Amino acid sequence: MDWPNLRTRGYLSPGEIARLRPSPLEAGLRGAVAVIECVEDIPCNPCEEACPNGAIVVGDDITRVPRFYEERCTGCGLCIPACPGLAIFVIDQSEGEDAIIKMPYEFLPVPREGQQVQALDRQGRAVCRGTVTKVVDASGYNKTIVLHLAVPRQHVMDVRGIKMTNEGTPAGDPTICRCMEVTRGEILRAIREGGARSIPAIKRRTTAGMGVCQGKTCSGLITGILCQEIGVDPECTGQDTARPPVRPLALDALGGDME
Ligand code: SF4
Ligand code: SF4
Repeated sequence: MDWPNLRTRGYLSPGEIARLRPSPLEAGLRGAVAVIECVEDIPCNPCEEACPNGAIVVGDDITRVPRFYEERCTGCGLCIPACPGLAIFVIDQSEGEDAIIKMPYEFLPVPREGQQVQALDRQGRAVCRGTVTKVVDASGYNKTIVLHLAVPRQHVMDVRGIKMTNEGTPAGDPTICRCMEVTRGEILRAIREGGARSIPAIKRRTTAGMGVCQGKTCSGLITGILCQEIGVDPECTGQDTARPPVRPLALDALGGDME
């Protein structure tokens, strides 16, 4: 038995990754191709409808894991934002020194093309530096963005997310939330472009206040920025909620041994 797995830990186990076809290690050597990291029998099939080439087939029994026909896949990436489980990636290792991983992204602020970011693995652990080479705004899919991320080829099996860093931000843009590395400029963008009008809204858009200190060091600063921007008193900005645990935990640490 392959344990712990996605159901118990919230991310794919090495055994589940090893069974993916095409293997992320070999995928995209001849050109961009999808890697579908969907291993649960759940009632879901938007990926099948999104693919214009019939490369993904779920069938009438929509609780089945999708079947993937690699030879039909052009690597277009249309299936990426269509997947509500954020389980589809496109990998291209056919050109250059770096691999390109196309991945879904649902946070604000949206990274810029050319921005350096921290590349994360399926557990959210730092793997390497990555460069955002393209940002595709698939607005038809409930605001899910598709990022193209260049990473060294040896990490193509592992990288499945990003964390924004302050590298490349304009000089003089101070960090407000040190735990999550959120700058004043990012908070202003959340207010001006993202429409945030409360502390919780800024938190959801930028992750400011979601770190280990749960806003202890930054909430006062963020309140000040928001009040100044929209011209309200601090008591009108809404209360942030500090949530235990204040450190990230694997799900099985909370649930114990679960079959
Ligand atoms: S990348 Fe394009 S062609 Fe390949 S499975 Fe997804 S939608 Fe179909
Ligand atoms: S849309 Fe995503 S989660 Fe749903 S069946 Fe397809 S790959 Fe799995």
